[in-house]
Amino acid sequence: MQEQSVRPRKIEDYSSWLTNRQTDKLLRRAETFRGKKVYEINSTATGGGVVELLRSQIPLMRGLGIDAQWLVLPPDDRFFAITKQFHNALQGGRDSLPEDLEYYDVYTQKVAASIPRDGDLYILHDPQTLGLIPFLADKPVIWRCHIDLTNAEPHTFAWLRRRLRAVDRSIFSLESYTAGIENTSIVQPSIDPLQPKNQSLSDEVADKVIASLGIDPSRPFITQISRYDMFKDPIGVLEIARRIQTMIPGLQCVLLGNYADDDPEGEEMFRSVLSAAEGMVDTHILVNVADNERAVNALQTRAAAVVQYSSREGFGLTVTEAMWKGALMCARPVGGILLQVKNGKTGITLSGKYDYDAQRIAHVLQDKHLAARLGAAAHQHVEKNFITPVMLSEYLVAYEQAVQVAAKVS
Ligand code: UDP
Repeated sequence: MQEQSVRPRKIEDYSSWLTNRQTDKLLRRAETFRGKKVYEINSTATGGGVVELLRSQIPLMRGLGIDAQWLVLPPDDRFFAITKQFHNALQGGRDSLPEDLEYYDVYTQKVAASIPRDGDLYILHDPQTLGLIPFLADKPVIWRCHIDLTNAEPHTFAWLRRRLRAVDRSIFSLESYTAGIENTSIVQPSIDPLQPKNQSLSDEVADKVIASLGIDPSRPFITQISRYDMFKDPIGVLEIARRIQTMIPGLQCVLLGNYADDDPEGEEMFRSVLSAAEGMVDTHILVNVADNERAVNALQTRAAAVVQYSSREGFGLTVTEAMWKGALMCARPVGGILLQVKNGKTGITLSGKYDYDAQRIAHVLQDKHLAARLGAAAHQHVEKNFITPVMLSEYLVAYEQAVQVAAKVS
């Protein structure tokens, strides 16, 4: 297990976004875990929404006096090939139970031997960590699911349910994802206003960052920022961009993505996107850029519209981040996006049909007042519901419930 180092973050740092009531509630809930050791375990230290959440949540837990630790499974290509199949089967109904399941267990057994035994609570994130459950049988354990299980492939789902019999609680982002699993809590993810990625950037600085990426800051652009993954549908974004460009000449299209260590399919998807973009003008396909935080921030801040064309989305932190910056958010209403983008109120929802979606986006792009109103409402919606301390407060309720269940069982 690889331990990630994190510095504590004080609750006071968030005071400008919290009411006194919210702060008091969080302090009260954190009291239960003061001095307790809580291990959060996931499968990568870079890339993807889970990392974003943990790198904000754990410092705040520490700041509240909880001895929170972040452990990451050591990388292993064969293991990640299996867990990506799980991911695809559970979230997309594609693939079935991996054939190489024996290796999944061999690997997790090896890893489990290095988990510290002094925890008061263990939170395991996503299917990659499910194999650790039997090795923590004498401890309170939570499984935190970040993906959408509504279309799970039946054999893989049955396998998941068997594994979950031994956890004290499971946490999902949406009620509809729980798929009949018992003993669940719902906690929505969040963005951290204190991360450089979400701090406000002046237009001048943002434009410099944009220019350094090879994009013309004086012309409008639409963007999607996401891992290169088929569920994010970057090729669909190119299709709509191509159509909007016939209505708004000079409009640029920017795709920015990165690879997560535990996602072996990213590079192949990136190559497919490059070939789909061949012949397109004013189109920038970027991957793993050097100053990632500022690039994401600048693009979300200055985009004429931010698109999230995912066909499936556990929650969609990229959507939350863009809304935080008051962007005009245009997204398909799937998974967690449903909670964020309310059509005509906090953004606009898309249909997945290229011609129709291109027309809708072009229409709003030409109505500056509407775009500004939607962006302002988007920011408010995120501030109220989807920032780190709000999420942590809900987590702590679920954590306490898990500890109580574990105490009854033992
Ligand atoms: N992200 C990034 N650089 C990129 C692409 C994505 O930093 O090139 C970040 C993005 O800002 C967000 C996270 O990766 O914080 C993606 O989280 P999300 O929930 O949208 O999707 P996931 O990758 O977990 O499916």
